[in-house]
Amino acid sequence: MAGRVALVTGGTRGIGAAISKMLKLRGYEVAANYAGNDVAAKAFHEETGIPVYKFDVGDYAAVKEAVTKIEKDLGPIDIIVNNAGITRDATMRKLDRSMWDAVIDTNLGSCFNVCKAAWDGMNQRGFGRIVNIGSINGQGGQYGQVNYAAAKSGIHGFTKALAQEGASKGITVNAIAPGYTDTDMVSAVPPNVLEKIIAKIPVGRLGKADEIARGVLFLVADDAGFITGSTLSINGGQHMY
Ligand code: NDP
Repeated sequence: MAGRVALVTGGTRGIGAAISKMLKLRGYEVAANYAGNDVAAKAFHEETGIPVYKFDVGDYAAVKEAVTKIEKDLGPIDIIVNNAGITRDATMRKLDRSMWDAVIDTNLGSCFNVCKAAWDGMNQRGFGRIVNIGSINGQGGQYGQVNYAAAKSGIHGFTKALAQEGASKGITVNAIAPGYTDTDMVSAVPPNVLEKIIAKIPVGRLGKADEIARGVLFLVADDAGFITGSTLSINGGQHMY
């Protein structure tokens, strides 16, 4: 599998950075995407040597252009990790349309945009590995996250439907549903709320980004071709049904 090209969206920080690094360590050619944090992306690139590509995964045209550039630079994309995600939390009373659109476009629309841009090539070559990063809150819902839970839940449906289309073409499509994981996204949660969240995690701590990356590594392997349409929960035992 050495030399296979992987695009990791949101691949310069948090869970995505751990995924990018782990894939590179195992011999994959990695392209790491990001949205706007140039400082973090530069530091990531200097640390890892992984090329970084700035584009908005929610922008269909920008994704198409970027995928063409990545394929020109590194070769055809064999692996997509749809990891880029944001939160814009508010209860329904305060949630406005722009917060809804931003979360749906970035978390769910992105999966369509990126897969669409690389899908024909994967079909022609008869190989593809797609991993979509969902969430425990897409499985069980979460107070104040109507937009995020809808987007993440949508990812799980997207995964199962696309898996059926890719199955006969050597393309697997799976999802990972992380539980609360120690990244900038979770640092934004107020400490008193976070304390209550951790109390509900049976293993008694937040997940580590590397622990989510481990699942990606498993699902993208050449010999993982019989695993498709599945959701791998990595959540310290918080959600088991
Ligand atoms: P972070 O906020 O730490 O990192 C997010 C990454 O996504 C950054 O690289 C960011 O780029 C990128 N990004 C955000 N918006 C866009 C966009 N429009 N276009 C391209 N890139 C974008 O997030 P996490 O690592 O915590 O989360 C990663 C994924 O895991 C997300 O999908 C999240 O929903 C999911 N998840 C996280 C959990 C957690 O507890 N942390 C739990 C369950 C799921 P930039 O650096 O430029 O801002």
